Amino acid sequence: MKKNRLLTAVALVALFPLTTLADECELVIEGTDQMSFSAKKMTAPASCETVKVTLKHTGSLAKDMMGHNWVLTRKDDMQAIIKAGAAAGLDNDYLPQGDDRIIAATEVIGGGETAEVEFSTADLQGEKLTFFCSFPGHSGMMKGSFEVK
Ligand code: ZN
Repeated sequence: MKKNRLLTAVALVALFPLTTLADECELVIEGTDQMSFSAKKMTAPASCETVKVTLKHTGSLAKDMMGHNWVLTRKDDMQAIIKAGAAAGLDNDYLPQGDDRIIAATEVIGGGETAEVEFSTADLQGEKLTFFCSFPGHSGMMKGSFEVK
């Protein structure tokens, strides 16, 4: 009995660091009816093989009125993606389809909805990255820096 308890304690100590690492690789950001994100800066440890970003729309407006997505590109690619995204329309989540300048992107969601995207950070360390919402007119307020370090 005593021996079993000791083994359980050892197992918990061994698992704890893994749990901590997994949490650091899962980021959550919120979008609001006031056309804002809850963060201006996001950071992921380079030790993450993949990062999962969850976007929660905490407002109540529909996605054709106040839709939000979470898009990640290199800083220099942002404006071109926004322009092409506006032309692509809501049916394409305001993003040019199949464009490899888009590192990661969620679908466009409305109030009360949640979207997730998971992506590899293998080649992103040291890159100047920007996240933004590609809904027309939103990226002026809804953008921030993303760093893998
Ligand atoms: Zn938006």
